Amino acid sequence: TCPRTFVVGGNWKMNGTKSQIDEILGFLRKGPINDFTEVIVGVPAPYLEYVAKSVPQTVEVAAQNCYKALNGAYTGEISPPMLKDIGVKWVILGHSERRAIFGESDLLVAEKVAFALQNGLKVIACIGETLQEREAGKTEEVVFRQIQAIACKIKDWKHVVIAYEPVWAIGTGKTASPQQAQDVHKALRLYIATQIDGNVAKQVRIQYGGSVTAANAKELASQPDIDGFLVGGASLKPEFIQIINAKQ
Ligand code: PEP
Repeated sequence: TCPRTFVVGGNWKMNGTKSQIDEILGFLRKGPINDFTEVIVGVPAPYLEYVAKSVPQTVEVAAQNCYKALNGAYTGEISPPMLKDIGVKWVILGHSERRAIFGESDLLVAEKVAFALQNGLKVIACIGETLQEREAGKTEEVVFRQIQAIACKIKDWKHVVIAYEPVWAIGTGKTASPQQAQDVHKALRLYIATQIDGNVAKQVRIQYGGSVTAANAKELASQPDIDGFLVGGASLKPEFIQIINAKQ
């Protein structure tokens, strides 16, 4: 078996000014960051190139979205080649805010994942159920549907990280318990093994996201199927370093 490299992403969302970003770059430079965790920061589009040029070499940069065309009449959108052109290697796709606020469907997210991969980007693909869906007992049904939509469009999962982010835990201060998160991660891995590919199931990294903080990261990181985090609010603060280093 090959160990899955722990991977922690920070999703800055629509936050930050240049001076705030300089503060974040400051604590990322200061670290210290352990050398066995992969670190990615998800940066608002106007600051991508600035951050890509100034982050420590061990930190990678992600866009928070991109479209499924090379160029053309898609006002307001950005393309995978544009991201590559400015030194960005990753993109976060299918975040619940994109799905809920901007109406991105499972199909559109899957098409964007496939297009980004074809164009040489690595992808953090986000899935997760709403509170209503969880309370209706539909968590697995929803996350399996979301992952299957992506599986229908891609074959190679080598450059994909899955972020399981229960919507009710995002930005709410309500973290999934380590057991709740582990249960879904395990079910996802079993689904992938039985419905997609056994090797993919062993190798694909599944991050947990939803109100991760320095206080809860260690216990979450100790779960066998949690391979990292996608962190919103806390990724803007120095405690992000403790979250990066949470895996023992
Ligand atoms: C996110 O934006 O992906 C996220 C998990 O946000 P937060 O950590 O603030 O809940």
